[in-house]
Order: sequence, then C-alpha cells, then structure tokens
Amino acid sequence: AVETRPIDGKAFAAGLRDEIKAEVASLKASHGLTPGLAVVLVGEDPASQVYVRNKGQQTIEAGMASFEHRLPATTTEAELIALVDRLNADPAVDGILVQLPLPKGVDERAVLAAIAPAKDVDGFHVVNAGRLAVGLDALVPCTPLGCLMLLKHHLGSLSGLEAVVVGRSNIVGKPMAQLLLKEDCTVTIAHSRTRDIAAVCRRADILVAAVGRPQMVRGDWIKPGATVIDVGINRVPAPDLGEGRTRIVGDVAYAEALGIAGLITPVPGGVGPMTIACLLRNTVTAARRRAGI
Ligand code: NDP
Repeated sequence: AVETRPIDGKAFAAGLRDEIKAEVASLKASHGLTPGLAVVLVGEDPASQVYVRNKGQQTIEAGMASFEHRLPATTTEAELIALVDRLNADPAVDGILVQLPLPKGVDERAVLAAIAPAKDVDGFHVVNAGRLAVGLDALVPCTPLGCLMLLKHHLGSLSGLEAVVVGRSNIVGKPMAQLLLKEDCTVTIAHSRTRDIAAVCRRADILVAAVGRPQMVRGDWIKPGATVIDVGINRVPAPDLGEGRTRIVGDVAYAEALGIAGLITPVPGGVGPMTIACLLRNTVTAARRRAGI
C-alpha cells in the first residue's frame, strides 16, 4: 500500500498570511500604501456572518484596512449596486467582496457585474474569468488559487500530469481547470452527467473534488499515489458524537483514500484555510496593480 501524506493547509495558510503581512508592511514603508478590503454582507445568513467576521479579522491581522458593510435583508438590488459604485470610486478600497448568497430577489449576476474588475478580489467578474481563460493577468477565484498553491508547493512542476476536476461551478471547478491547464496539465472536467466517473477519476495524477456531496469519491476511484484535493465542505449528522451532533466531511471518503492516495487534503484543515489567505493575497495584488507597483 501507498503511504498517504496529509497536506496541512492550515499551516500553509498561516505561512502565507505571514508572508502577506511582511509584504503589506513593506508596501506601507516604501510606498505609503495600505491595501484595503471592503466586504459587503446582506442579511443574516449565519454561515456568511462567520465568513465575514473571519475575513475582517484576518485582513486586520495582515496590517490591511478592513471596511465592513452590513445591510438588512430588505436591501434592494439598486441600493446594493449604488454601494458597489461608491466602493468602486473609493481610493482607499482595493478589493470589493460581496458575500454570497444574496437574498432572494437580488440578481447576483447584476451585482457581481457592477464590481470594477480591478477590485474584484473574488475573481467572479466575467472580465476576470475571461482574462484567466485567455491567459492574461487576472484576479483568480480564491479557492482554486489556494488549491493550486498547495499543488505546486507539494509537487513542483505540474507539467504533463493528468488532472481530473470533479465539478464545473464558476467559483471552483471551472477556474480550477483553467489554472491546471495553464500549468500544462492534461485536464478533464467531470460533472453530474459524466459517464463512469469512477474510471475517469482513476486516470488522475491530480484529482480535485468540488462537488458538495459528502464522501462521494471512493477509495477505488483514486489512482495509487495520486494527489487528492478535497474542496468539499459538507455538514453531516454524527450520531457517534451524541444525539443531534454533526461534523464536517469532504467530498472524498478520506478513510478509504488512506493507503491509496499519495497526498490528500483533509477536511477540515486542508483547502478551507487557504481560501481567506488567497483573498488577502488577491487584495495585495489588486492594490499593487492599481498603484502600478
Ligand atoms: P456547486 O453546487 O456550484 O457545483 C457542484 C458541481 O458538482 C456541479 O458542477 C455539479 O455538476 C457537480 N456534481 C453534483 N453532483 C454530482 C455527481 N453526482 N457527480 C458528479 N458531479 C456532480 O458547488 P461549488 O463548486 O460551489 O462547491 C463545491 C463544494 O466545495 C461544496 O461542498 C462547497 O461547500 C465547497 N466549497 C468550499 C470552499 C472552501 O473550501 N473555502 C469554497 C467554495 C466551495 P452539474 O454542473 O452537472 O450540476
């Protein structure tokens, strides 16, 4: 059997945040520039509140400016777009993030389209998606960017490797596939209509699961020695912990993958912590590009 090594995303993200903090300090010292991130939260979604709080805290810890805008669930699309316009024009704001999901009745696409592409640190604007696709400098969605950093750190060159991405969402699967293609992988994207998905996955030297189905990827879908990146965050009942208790699991059956995968990201503690670290990275990138440094 293969000896499986877990990828410690928590430690890697902490290291990345330290690097960013040092870079921010030097931008301040040499250019008088303090990168600023504005986060907009509409409504009371509990998970979104936790994300927004963590983003704000980590932005401040990195030495950057954090601007939080909390709006009631009754906010209209026009009011939200007016706020985005103000942030687009605000010189202290380098990055704008509108926390999804937005309340019903607000068109997410219209709001995301209103964000200036140069400040679109989530990388969801069609201009950034298009720039990534044609190989221009782009702000890249944070989660796939974090996955790519982990892959390059552990594998070095990815050139020529077979990569299979399960999931084709605009925020994870598609940009992940674009990034792997840019690294010269041979990329396959699998999704809900893929025939014999197990056989497709077994081809992968790099297998990325971004599906949102608890433990869907089984041990025998994994090529021995492959690197497995599990993006899934699924809350499932955990009666063994007590009545009504839950736990978080990924899209990969982790216990089955042990002894087969060469490297694997655990859930939690793998991809998850990389996302906010990459948001900070994107904010610094946006600030540098806007200032021309
Ligand atoms: P979406 O629901 O937007 O996309 C899921 C994708 O999985 C779709 O392309 C869908 O295919 C595909 N899919 C669904 N069922 C199957 C199946 N049975 N077989 C093969 N493919 C299937 O999810 P996201 O991309 O937004 O997120 C994916 C997971 O990643 C979730 O668990 C989410 O919580 C997690 N996540 C974690 C983040 C982090 O770590 N920070 C950030 C973002 C997401 P089709 O297109 O055909 O419907």
